Amino acid sequence: MTNDLQSWGRFPLATRQTTHALAWQTDSIPTAGASLLPYGQGRSYGDSCLNENGTLLTTHGLDRLLDFDAATGVVRCEAGTTLETLLKLTVPRGWFLPVTPGTKFVSIGGAIANDVHGKNHHRAGTFGRYVRRFELLRSDGSRKVCSPEENPDWYEATIGGLGLTGLILWADVQMRPIHNPFVITETVPMADLEDFFKISRESEQDAELTVAWVDSLALGRRLGRGLFFRGNFAPPRFDGLPLVRSHLSHGSALAVPFNLPGISLNWLSVATFNWFFYRANLLRRGPRLQHYDPFFYPLDKVHRWNRVYGRKGFFQFQCVVPFSTARDALREIMERSARDVPSPLTVLKTFGDISSPGWMSFPRPGVTLALDFANRGDRTMKLVAELDRLTRQAGGAVYPAKDAGMSPENFAAYFPQLERFKSYIDPAFSSSFWRRMNP
Ligand SMILES: Cc1cc2nc3c(=O)[nH]c(=O)nc-3n(C[C@H](O)[C@H](O)[C@H](O)COP(=O)(O)OP(=O)(O)OC[C@H]3O[C@@H](n4cnc5c(N)ncnc54)[C@H](O)[C@@H]3O)c2cc1C
Repeated sequence: MTNDLQSWGRFPLATRQTTHALAWQTDSIPTAGASLLPYGQGRSYGDSCLNENGTLLTTHGLDRLLDFDAATGVVRCEAGTTLETLLKLTVPRGWFLPVTPGTKFVSIGGAIANDVHGKNHHRAGTFGRYVRRFELLRSDGSRKVCSPEENPDWYEATIGGLGLTGLILWADVQMRPIHNPFVITETVPMADLEDFFKISRESEQDAELTVAWVDSLALGRRLGRGLFFRGNFAPPRFDGLPLVRSHLSHGSALAVPFNLPGISLNWLSVATFNWFFYRANLLRRGPRLQHYDPFFYPLDKVHRWNRVYGRKGFFQFQCVVPFSTARDALREIMERSARDVPSPLTVLKTFGDISSPGWMSFPRPGVTLALDFANRGDRTMKLVAELDRLTRQAGGAVYPAKDAGMSPENFAAYFPQLERFKSYIDPAFSSSFWRRMNP
């Protein structure tokens, strides 16, 4: 049946997709007809989780927790299980996700297929490093258990493999120990881009978690002005702390009820938001104790916040550029995008040099920049193409999970293991992104 499943950016719109829902690991997948693509929670922004004219294998039903060893912290769960579900099980038992993206509403299958990164990349690398084993179902009906020891090439192709090597059924994930659900965080103001590099370098010695928010409207000499957030999981002395308001796990209380008109995000609204965000956070300078939920997942508090960009959807552009070219490249990319339409959410973070097992994994040493902007048609497509060009020129890469506009030539340049990866793609699997990259 046709469906209205979209990506988080809601651009491009996929209007002709069918779905095949999986409920049991023993279920088979269609063997003839349209191309197939696994679909987790649709939290990818562009078209890598879409399959126009094809079938989405939806995994919401594959959400069972199968095993948890509270002594070692290894959890086995079906691939449709969300990070939120996993945290509810493991946090009270003293284990947290080894790596988490900025939303807990993603599935384990999606986290593996995009080899997601988090605020601890400089210390921990990517999610894929903590996936001990998983089972892959191919369209010919074969099933492969994959790990660094069993079918290692399939393991490496599937981590970051964009859902194209087959359907992951379940996975074993190594969680990391914590003492309690709290994080000690600190907010440090940054005057400019140079300050970002300085504070990053200093913070990474002692802080496991780092990320920076940048005021996208501060340009010229003030470019890079913003706030640096750093933190560590709290030590045992905070165990058993009574849960007061600031320590409560925050449920998602709000939702954006309908699409806001595209014009609601203009220069003035972005400037107002940036002004308040900057000042409100400055007031909270100095170390403070926070529950992990608002620290890791501030955007999850508002359900369907993607509707604020209006009916035409929006882009998130995320690139990584090597340290050697980062200063000039970031300056150019930020100034170029600010001239067009300011991004209400501009995030900088350094990636460390811990490599991933995944051949197609996006993170690599350097600085990653993420920008959001509303879709304004051709003008936005031109901007994205320009940012893609600047990234390539700087020797960087664009994140496929966020992409709706990179060129096929640049994609091939960003992922040097692409040719090797191609021979592991399931012949029945494809995606809108993949066809766009291979016209
Ligand atoms: C608010 C927000 C913040 C984010 N922050 C970050 C961040 O900090 N770091 C980061 O790396 N990403 C981040 N992301 C992106 C998000 O983490 C990834 O796109 C993630 O992969 C989405 O998972 P999903 O379950 O929604 O999968 P989908 O978006 O539905 O699918 C993603 C890919 O996984 C494949 N897939 C899904 N399930 C399976 C399966 N069972 N077997 C095989 N393949 C499968 C799909 O085919 C597709 O290629 C963020 C997204 C949002 C909305």
